[in-house]
Amino acid sequence: MVNAVMPDRAVADEVGLLELLNSAPIVDGVPTDELRGAGATGWLREHGIPGTPGAARDVRDAISGVVRGQQSEAGLQGFLADVRQVPVVGESGVEWKLEGARFAARMVLAWAQVQGRLRPCENDAECTLFLIDRSKANARRWCSMSTCGNRLKARRHQVRVRST
Ligand SMILES: [Zn+2]
Repeated sequence: MVNAVMPDRAVADEVGLLELLNSAPIVDGVPTDELRGAGATGWLREHGIPGTPGAARDVRDAISGVVRGQQSEAGLQGFLADVRQVPVVGESGVEWKLEGARFAARMVLAWAQVQGRLRPCENDAECTLFLIDRSKANARRWCSMSTCGNRLKARRHQVRVRST
């Protein structure tokens, strides 16, 4: 299979990466995992992810570990083993095409594209989600202002009120 390196594809992969990383949310205080249990195969199909839940978990957990600073980047190398860039001559000259980039490899390549903008939500006691900050300031701290952002602000306010 030959995959052209197209911006649309790259953006789609960044969105897919975030969905994959956010597939183990805490719901009502309980850690959940879309990639475990009876619904896992359906979840993969819904998100257009090929392969098994176990394979998806492997790459998700490896990238999550790196983004959280718990694992070294070197652990991602294995997912890129089959990826090559191949020159293809066409009407407009030579184009470089990516070959062998299966799902896990595409997720690692997407991670590389959003390094420095992909980070865990700062509400890390209650939230396992990640965010990709595309703003110019790159100062976003919460997966969502309406949930984690407000919750943390409210709690800090309470702490401040209590301590005065
Ligand atoms: Zn959050």
